[in-house]
Amino acid sequence: MDKINTKKNNIYVSEEEKTLVWDDIQTSFKKTFGNEIYNSWLQKISLVKEYNDYLILGVPTRFFRDWIVSRYLDKILEQVKGFKLSLNRIEFKIIDEVKQSQEFIKINELNKVTEIKDSILNYNRLNPNLNFENFIQGKSNDIALSYSKKVCEHISRYNPLYICGGVGLGKTHLLNAIGLALQNENNVMFISAERFMYHFIKSIKKNDMVNFKDFFRKSSVFIIDDIQFISGKESLQEEFFHTFNSLMDKGSQIIISSDRSPAKLDKVQDRIKSRLSGGLVVDIDSPDLELKSKIIKKKIEEIEIQFKENINLSDEVINFIASETKTNIRELIGVLNRVIAFSRVHNKILNISDCKNILRDVFNQIRVITVDKIQNVVSNYFNISLSDMLSQRRSRPLARPRQIAMFLAKKMTSRSLPEIGRRFANRDHTTVIHAVKTISRLADQDDEMKKNINQIQSLLLEQQ
Ligand code: ADP
Ligand code: MG
Repeated sequence: MDKINTKKNNIYVSEEEKTLVWDDIQTSFKKTFGNEIYNSWLQKISLVKEYNDYLILGVPTRFFRDWIVSRYLDKILEQVKGFKLSLNRIEFKIIDEVKQSQEFIKINELNKVTEIKDSILNYNRLNPNLNFENFIQGKSNDIALSYSKKVCEHISRYNPLYICGGVGLGKTHLLNAIGLALQNENNVMFISAERFMYHFIKSIKKNDMVNFKDFFRKSSVFIIDDIQFISGKESLQEEFFHTFNSLMDKGSQIIISSDRSPAKLDKVQDRIKSRLSGGLVVDIDSPDLELKSKIIKKKIEEIEIQFKENINLSDEVINFIASETKTNIRELIGVLNRVIAFSRVHNKILNISDCKNILRDVFNQIRVITVDKIQNVVSNYFNISLSDMLSQRRSRPLARPRQIAMFLAKKMTSRSLPEIGRRFANRDHTTVIHAVKTISRLADQDDEMKKNINQIQSLLLEQQ
């Protein structure tokens, strides 16, 4: 979670503006994907450009790109994220070999330092694959989806529209879909809060704030992703607040996403929170089984059409994947891609036991969750100190998070009850049992508790 280094003057600079060493990443691809897939596909990918939170990778053909995207993208992203935490997107560029070597020379000339020319313009790009047509409706996202569409029909009726929900539930997809729907008739700006900060700092350094202000304030639709990122960053909040106000004044539509509701944004000025909640706030929840199955079927259909091939997954297998993937849709798609790749490589129709094996591998890889990590994430989430959470104090604001952490330790690690007790300042295992029972019961009865638990689980998985 702490991707950011504090620097002087209350300005924050991302730690990860360093350059990636592509050879190292290639080595890790080889290990993860195995020789066969590596030699036929991944070896041919080159690094074209590196930005703070996304990369442009070069591939030889359109077909090659589509193949990689549908099969390996999640895994590639996950791998590269191991080298660059701030990464959240990868784009592909088709370059023939001659051009490719030129690009390489360019990068080498720059001594592999990222040069971002016209970077704001470069960044303001919408992904054509994340649109309303392929966003599947379900109970958990129904309201968010319908208001996202309404915003496109009636600009500034719901202003700002604030979409909140845990990781991997479709926020960026919806934001992107809104941008696509509006881009022809409007001046759409789509940017993540992190990227906004990046430009803000660059502009300060270059003494170019006038341009920065102009650039952002001229949009008629301003879409900003992951606003929780501004937490604790005072000067950024200040700038955001002014941008926000001036856009609202001129009647621009603002759409915002966040992993939590405005009221729950920590270390964000009250006046901003109140501005953020002044329009319409809609939630996206965790998907139910029905939505997960629908998404799987839709994805299969897309791959079948795109590659003119038949993907044979039985309903039983689809249900299995849907019910085993608990946390979010990004993970669901990752698992599905794995299953399809496996069935292709081994050229067989998969049964449940094959799937179990594949899923065990996937989950073992991504879920190395320790009690320590759970304690850290839970205390951070509730904004209490770790020592308070582990202390003997019994006030509810400390006791509940403590119980939640114990509950998650039991659920997400293989530690025994006494082991967990010991890690919570030497408590007895009966205390852990009590915590597990209490939280399970509350999670059943209380929506707020259920949501907290889901979000914490997502955070834990996201941090891998
Ligand atoms: P978030 O921004 O909330 O973390 P994303 O928008 O990045 O989540 O979604 C994660 C992945 O799941 C993306 O590939 C997205 O296209 C897909 N996805 C999420 N919700 C849906 C949906 N309802 N229908 C189809 N795909 C979805
Ligand atoms: Mg997102």
